[in-house]
Order: sequence, then structure tokens, then C-alpha cells
Amino acid sequence: MSGADRSGREPLSTVFARLIANFGPISIMQYMGEANARYYAARDPLGAAGDFVTAPEISQMFGELIGLWLADLWQRAGAPATVHYVELGPGRGTLARDALRAAGKAGLAPQVHFVEGSPALRAVQREAVPMAQWHDDLSTLPDDAPILLVANEFLDALPVRQLVRAEAGWRERMVGHEDGGFRPVIGDRPIDVAVPEHLREAEAGTIIETCPGAAAVVDEVARRLASQGGAALFVDYGHAAFQTGSTLQAVRAHRKVDPFVDPGEADLTALVDFATLADVARAGGARWLGTTEQGAWLRALGIEARAAALSRAAPAQAEAIAIARDRLTTPDQMGALFKVMGLAAPGWPDGAGF
Ligand code: SAH
Repeated sequence: MSGADRSGREPLSTVFARLIANFGPISIMQYMGEANARYYAARDPLGAAGDFVTAPEISQMFGELIGLWLADLWQRAGAPATVHYVELGPGRGTLARDALRAAGKAGLAPQVHFVEGSPALRAVQREAVPMAQWHDDLSTLPDDAPILLVANEFLDALPVRQLVRAEAGWRERMVGHEDGGFRPVIGDRPIDVAVPEHLREAEAGTIIETCPGAAAVVDEVARRLASQGGAALFVDYGHAAFQTGSTLQAVRAHRKVDPFVDPGEADLTALVDFATLADVARAGGARWLGTTEQGAWLRALGIEARAAALSRAAPAQAEAIAIARDRLTTPDQMGALFKVMGLAAPGWPDGAGF
């Protein structure tokens, strides 16, 4: 373990090692939450020179089609004059810029609110979308008018809690520190009450992953849709039905790395459990419009026609545009693993593509 990190602070690995030496293993949830808070606070991780590339950074078509989806729904809901565009974890602000430009051409000019935890990324967002207002979390968002909310690759960054079936019963999955390295270990407190009935007697080694933070976010969004009106789109990699097993992974410089090495220096993510989140949304009072594979959704929204129009306007770019379209839509790239979940307020119309 070496000296200070780029923010001048003690490396998180040193902090965690000391914490574990003094008080014992920490939960996976604490490990992932603190690692990602540290990871995002001081850097812009997006793009070819960073750690990973997201859909809005691949092509303007992604944000434009989202902007048109929102504008279409807003229009069919009677085009309320005051409306708030809300984005969770807007990264570089690229999606918002593309979506707001496309929506503007369709007559939708909302107020703009960004929920962003990272000071480094807020600075980048301010360049892209100067008129935005920033929030630390959803609690300070306005409640006077409908919201049109977008979150791309936001939920996957929120910390997961893992439960593991030991011989004697269910325990929380923890992180210990042995022989100079972090390792997953089995906690010692019984936690069977947190496990659904049908999984209580699962075979030893079975892991269940939940994301309390994602559920809390979707619950708050659903409650706001029910009381304020509007619609929401959550786009992320995840599964449409509940599955057992750990999906915790780390990415650094575009490669998968060991999530238990160098916490705070790689992007930690987990697959999003869209089935559970749809239930949470309905229980909170929103209408669940559907959860669809990203490729099918973008095709339903007309990505082929948009790609053709962009290629006609810039023939030299035609090949790059086709490559970007395929990256976003084909099943072996982002088209199938990524899902789009749509929500709307009761009384608001259905959205395109579900
Ligand atoms: N939506 C962007 C960026 C995805 S990366 C894109 O598609 O390119 C995840 C984003 O969520 C970053 O902006 C990160 O700073 C933000 N984020 C992660 N955890 C957060 C939290 N707990 N609170 C607020 N923002 C968070």
C-alpha cells in the first residue's frame, strides 16, 4: 500500500485495512459504497481515455431519441407549461445536452435538474449544460410540477448488499483483509429473516444480492410521479427476472479487474434487478410501462431512420455512425444486456417502445 491518492488523501485500501484490523470485516455494501464515492469524487471516468464508455458517449442518437421519447409523452399529456427535466448521475452531461436539444425542437423546454454526487463531474456538467441546477440527492427536487426523469448507468453504481447461505444459515457477505489482500468472507450474525421464504433452504454458497439504494430511488421517483405527474426512464445493464449470485464487478481502463483490489480506483457496479424495481415502482404509485431490451427499444424509437439522416448529412461519417448504432443495438454488444424501464404517472399516456 503506497502513499496518497490523486486527491491527496490516504488510499482507501489503507483506510479499509485499518478499519478491518480494528473492528473486523466490513459489509460488501459499505465496501462498494465508500469505494464508489471515492472513485467518482475526484475524476471523470468516462470516455476512451478513462475507464469506461457509456451509451450517450457512443453516439448523440442515444440522447436524442430519449429527448424525443420525453417530448412525445409530454405532448400527449397535454404539454404542461411548467415541467422539470431531472437526470440522475448525468456523467459528462452529454445525454442531457442531446436530449434537451432534440426535445427543444419538439417544443419542450423544461427546467433542468441534475442529481450528482461528484464535484469533478459537476464541473464537467456545468460546461455542457450551464442552465442546470444541482442536487445532492432527490429530496431537494422541486415538487410543484411534473418531472421527466432519466437515469443512465446510475443504479448500477449504487452499493449492493449480499447475503450468503452458510452451512448453518444465511449470513451477510463481508469483506475481510488477510495476507495483505481484501477477500469476501462470511459474516457471523444470522440474517435468515431478510431472505425470501423459498430461498431459506438454498444450498450452501448461494448468494442473494439486493440494492437498497436503487429501491429507495425508484420508490421516491414513483411517489413523485404519483403526486406531481410525469414519466421516468431507467437504463442500465441488468436482468429482467430475479437471479441468485454475485454480480459485483470492477472496471478500470476498459478491462474487468478484481473488485477486491485497490478499492476507490476502479468503477464498481452490479447488475440491476429490474423485476424487483418494477414492483417497487408500482407499490409507490407509478405505472410500470415495461422493461425492454435497449436494442429493441431504440429500434422502435427509430434509430435506423436517425442514423440514415445523420449519414446523409455527413457522408464521411457514415461508417462511424453505423458502428455506433450497432454498438447500441446489437445483442452481442449493448442491445440485449442493457434494459430500459419506463414509468409514468397515473393518468399519463403510455410511452413509445414498450
Ligand atoms: N449517466 C452518465 C454517467 C454514468 S456513471 C452516462 O451515461 O454517461 C454514474 C454517474 O452517477 C456519475 O455521474 C456518478 O458521479 C453518479 N453517481 C454515482 N453514485 C452516485 C450517488 N450515490 N449519488 C449521486 N450521484 C452518483
